[in-house]
Amino acid sequence: MEFKKIKQLAIAFGLILIAMILLSVYRYTENIKLSKMTEVNSLIISTGTFKTGLNDALYGFGLSEKEKFKICKAYSKFFNLRRLRSDDEYSVIMSTSGVFKYVSIRRKLKDYLVFRKKDGFVGSVKPVNITSEIIKSEGVISSSLWNSMIPTVPAGTILDFADVFSWTVDFLTEVRKNDKYTVIYEIKKTDKGKIVDKKILAATYQGSLAGKKTAVKFKDSYYNKKGESMRSMFLRAPLHYRRISSFFTHRRYHPILKYVRPHLGIDYAAPIGTPVSSVASGRVTFKGWKGGYGRFVSVKHSAGYVTTYAHLRRYAKGLRVGKRVKQGDIVGYVGSSGMSTGPHLDFRMKRNGKFINFLRIKYRPTKRLARKYKKEFAALYKSLLGNK
Ligand SMILES: [Zn+2]
Repeated sequence: MEFKKIKQLAIAFGLILIAMILLSVYRYTENIKLSKMTEVNSLIISTGTFKTGLNDALYGFGLSEKEKFKICKAYSKFFNLRRLRSDDEYSVIMSTSGVFKYVSIRRKLKDYLVFRKKDGFVGSVKPVNITSEIIKSEGVISSSLWNSMIPTVPAGTILDFADVFSWTVDFLTEVRKNDKYTVIYEIKKTDKGKIVDKKILAATYQGSLAGKKTAVKFKDSYYNKKGESMRSMFLRAPLHYRRISSFFTHRRYHPILKYVRPHLGIDYAAPIGTPVSSVASGRVTFKGWKGGYGRFVSVKHSAGYVTTYAHLRRYAKGLRVGKRVKQGDIVGYVGSSGMSTGPHLDFRMKRNGKFINFLRIKYRPTKRLARKYKKEFAALYKSLLGNK
């Protein structure tokens, strides 16, 4: 009996030992798979992201256990090594003859270095080198804004471009062939080519229907040539370009939407499920079925304005009467509910109880550039857009 028990224990112990060995081999190979070796200026640089700990990442560089321990200890000054993040990146730098020089961990935009000094190791921190590049892209519309820009402009910048003008141009219905655009944007990259920031400095759109629009970024806001903010009380359309683009990228095509005006409102033809946004901030005053309008939402804004959204397929999650919505928030999704011949959004606007033509509403800037900045802004404008 006793002997059998000992035998069982020995087998169990043996199995655990084998499992531990296998696990450590696995962990080691995982680390190797994650790391990459490059040779620069007679230095060998091994880089990777952490799968396990720093100790494992330092395996294979001819460091003794004691040295590895000292390196880890030097790091504990900077951060908790037990809480390494998946996007932390390490580099181990050696001479081509295999002598360890230093190890570096990049977290966010800082490099944390530990290098050998006499018989110990010391740490230091330095900011990551960021380089900036300014790119100008000009073009002519061939079909939709997206299709015309996507060969040369990054997708995110197209959406930013549409955002800059979202109070003055509806890029889903007001884009026409041969319209012209300019976009000047800045890309900031780390020395490893990782993009850390991308922003539009200036943009223009000149359309046969949309008219001429220009914008220059100044102190975190965009202004037109007159120094008026691009922002206005109302978005140019209830089908918001950015929202719609994220909806359609899953379907891999960009629709060219149309609107008609069969009544005092506007009907936007759009596929079922297209997100519908409130054109201004306000409060929901109605949500429910309303006869021929089907699923219907109305939002009350300041200065006596009310907007309504009809024939919806469904409402935005969490929407209820009395809820505050921000400009651009989704209120529902395009459908064909009520008396409707096909999927479309019936959008209407009233002021003090009377229907008004939303498309004729004048763009009213929410703010103007302070007088003291006028000169500085004019110079910046000219340097970016010249006489546009
Ligand atoms: Zn309608």
